[in-house]
Amino acid sequence: MVTAVAFGVADVDDAEVSLHLLRFAHETLPQRVHFAAGQAADAVAEEVRRLEGSRVMAIATGAARAEPVLAGVRVAVVHTDVVRHVPVEVAEHARGVAREYDVDVLVSVGGGSTTGLAKAVALTTGLPIVSVPTTYAGSEATDVWGLTEGGRKSTGVDRRVLPHAVVYDATLMLGLPVATSVASGLNALAHCVDAMWGPRADPIDRALALEGIRALDSGLRHVVTDPTELAGREQSLYGAYLSAVAFASAGSGLHHKICHVLGGMFDLPHAETHAVVLPHVLALNAPAVPDLDARMAAAFGAPTALAGLQRLRGDVDAPRSLRDLGLAEPDLMTAVGPILDAAPPSNPVPVTAVAIEALLHAAYEGKDPA
Ligand code: NAD
Repeated sequence: MVTAVAFGVADVDDAEVSLHLLRFAHETLPQRVHFAAGQAADAVAEEVRRLEGSRVMAIATGAARAEPVLAGVRVAVVHTDVVRHVPVEVAEHARGVAREYDVDVLVSVGGGSTTGLAKAVALTTGLPIVSVPTTYAGSEATDVWGLTEGGRKSTGVDRRVLPHAVVYDATLMLGLPVATSVASGLNALAHCVDAMWGPRADPIDRALALEGIRALDSGLRHVVTDPTELAGREQSLYGAYLSAVAFASAGSGLHHKICHVLGGMFDLPHAETHAVVLPHVLALNAPAVPDLDARMAAAFGAPTALAGLQRLRGDVDAPRSLRDLGLAEPDLMTAVGPILDAAPPSNPVPVTAVAIEALLHAAYEGKDPA
């Protein structure tokens, strides 16, 4: 049997699986990726050598976090002026430092804000980046940059900002507090969910995203049970990488558009906002795409995707409400218009003002959308 489907590649519910013709164009971004627990310095040295770099600019929130990673390279300058959401003046400062020290490779060691600053430098200088992530944000695997100016966040896509290499070293994650790890891991999970139905989502994105869900569901539980266990930290990094690759290809779905608007308008914490909003978007969209819901549910090992997500959120004590994040209730209504403007036409259900108002109120209260 051959039929056209908008979202799935195969029905998954019974023995008589119906297949569908595939028609899509998928682009794989070029990047070397190391998984090297305890050996980041060797992997970074290898990558800087491959780039024939001799004057490294290290970008990190603190020199102490970067030092062990830089042992094998010649560092011209360690730059620690990192500010979340990359304000343009912070980007300009870093670009000036890169010029002043005549650097030839950027090595970023840190979370999404640190990677984001390296990307801002690469955007105007073309300098190559070796990225050593220390959260699950996933920016290292995308060619998306972000800058804020006057409280407005703008993003763009440019191949110059895609790191040439990524080095994942789970030992660097041991200092990430459990609550931050959980929020960041759920940010990665949100990449997986949006990659199922983002504007350019294709079967390869979905395969990566489903494995990402499985890895994050397992890894985050281990991180919470024993934050010092390397395998759980690494499994979460693996899931975060897959999630970001899938997301970079699929593009922003409704969930990311909502979080982008909320984060930009009210300066909410990035990862925690994703963690709170995700179940509400899943509850809105998943019933309209039962094949995708079933595949995500299988990845969670749960009856539905929402049940799986909520079980995980409960087990890892996820952030609950926008109110807890400091949002004021009257602000909710001001976000509805910009969200409607940004909502992708590809969303599985029509995005109406009524639906967004209800979603924002439920997320504000921290209600269980089930
Ligand atoms: P972050 O980089 O601001 O880090 C959060 C906090 O964790 C910071 O205080 C940081 O110092 C600390 N931290 C980081 N690693 C640590 C470690 N190993 N041990 C102890 N503390 C540690 O936050 P984030 O959530 O990683 O990144 C959010 C930013 O990344 C946002 O600006 C977001 O827009 C951007 N982002 C961009 C993309 C993209 O594709 N361009 C993708 C995801 C996120």
